[in-house]
Amino acid sequence: MKKYIYTISIFLIVAGFSFFNWYSNPGFDNDFNGSKEAISLLAHPAKADKVVEIEIKSGSTYGVLMKEADLDTSVAQDIYSTSQELYDLANIRVGRFIELIYDKETEECKGLDYEVNTEEKLYVRKDQDGEWQAEIKPIDYKTKIKVAEGKVQSSMYEAAINNNIDTRAIIELANAFQWSIDFAMDPRVGDKFKFVYEEKYLDGEYVMPGRVLAGKYINDGVNFEVYYFEESEDNKGYFDEQGNSVQKMFLKAPVSFKYISSGFTTGSRYVEAFNTATGHRAIDYAAKTGTPIRSVGDGTVAFAGWSSVGYGYLTKIRHNSTYSTNYAHQSKIAVRTGQKVKQGQIIGYVGSTGFSTGPHLHYEMVKNGAKINPLREILPPGKPIKQENKERFFKEIKKYQEMIR
Ligand SMILES: [Zn+2]
Repeated sequence: MKKYIYTISIFLIVAGFSFFNWYSNPGFDNDFNGSKEAISLLAHPAKADKVVEIEIKSGSTYGVLMKEADLDTSVAQDIYSTSQELYDLANIRVGRFIELIYDKETEECKGLDYEVNTEEKLYVRKDQDGEWQAEIKPIDYKTKIKVAEGKVQSSMYEAAINNNIDTRAIIELANAFQWSIDFAMDPRVGDKFKFVYEEKYLDGEYVMPGRVLAGKYINDGVNFEVYYFEESEDNKGYFDEQGNSVQKMFLKAPVSFKYISSGFTTGSRYVEAFNTATGHRAIDYAAKTGTPIRSVGDGTVAFAGWSSVGYGYLTKIRHNSTYSTNYAHQSKIAVRTGQKVKQGQIIGYVGSTGFSTGPHLHYEMVKNGAKINPLREILPPGKPIKQENKERFFKEIKKYQEMIR
C-alpha cells in the first residue's frame, strides 16, 4: 500500500460559501477546463518552461496527437519507448490531458506529463546528459478539510445541489451509510446531514473530493454517525460512534445511491414499499433500464434465468441457511447459477421483463422461507475496533464529532 504524503492545511468553510468549482457531473473523472493546446504556465516545471496542454479527444492516439502538436517524430518515439514499461502511452484515455514541456528559449521539447489516474502522474524528462527518463509519482494534492451540511426536501442528492456541495462528496457520504440507510426508501422531509470531508487542490485549484472523514445523517429523528478510522494497515474504513464497523451482512439497497439519485433528477419515480396489506412483499426501486443491480450480501447464486411466474429475468442469491434475496424483472443477468458472489458485486441490470409496467427492480428478502421487509430487518452491528485501539479511536474522532454536532 503506497503512502501518499499530503501537505495538510486545515481550514473550515461553512457550507453555503462556495468559492470552489461546482461540478454537476457526478462521475469521477477530473474536470479540467483546458481547451486543446491551451498554453498555461504550471507551477511544477521551471518557470521558464512553456507548457502545451493537449486534450485527448475520442478517436485520437498518442502518435496522431504528437503529430498535431508538431512534435518531432523521433522525440515522440523516444518518449514513448522510455515510458512504455511504466505506462504504455497507447492506452491514453479520452478526456484526460497530455502536457508537453518546452524550453522557452530554445523551443526544445524537454518533457511530457500525463495523469495516469486521479492519484498518479507520469513524468517523462530529458536529463542533463540528454537521456530520457520516466517515472510515475503521486500527484501532490494539497488537502483541505471542509464541513458541509444540508436539509432534505426530497433527497440528499437534491439537498447537496441546493447547498453547493460537490455531488461526488455526497456519493462518498452515501457509500459510508450504505449498510444503514436506504436512500431511495428511508429519507423523510426534514432529515438533516452534516459531514467532514477532504478537498483536493492542485496549483490552487479545486480538483475533487477526497475521503469523507465523518458524517451524520438524522433520518426520521434517528441519528446515524460514521467515522473514518485506520485501525491497522488492513483494517481501515467507517465505524459508528461506539467503534463498531458500519459494514454489515447486507447492504440496505440493491441499487447504489448514485443511480437512485439520478433517477430522482429525471423525474418519474416508481417506488413501491413492502406492504403486507397489498401483498407486495418486496421493495421496488425505480431506475433506468440498464442500471446495475448489486448483491446486498455475500452468497451463492441459487437461480439465474427466466422465471415462469412473472418475475422475468430473475436472480436468487442464497446468503446462508437463514437468508436469501431475489432480484426480478432484469434486462440482463450477469451471473450464473452456482456462482459465488460478493457483497456489492454487480449481478444484473434493471429492466422490465416479466409482469412489469416499467423499468424497476423488484427486490425480495427471504428469511427462513418467508418474505420479510429488508428495511425492517435488524442485523447485528459489524466487528468492533480492538480494545487496545479504542482509546486512539475515541481521541481521533473527538474533533470530528465537534464539527458535525
Ligand atoms: Zn414489485
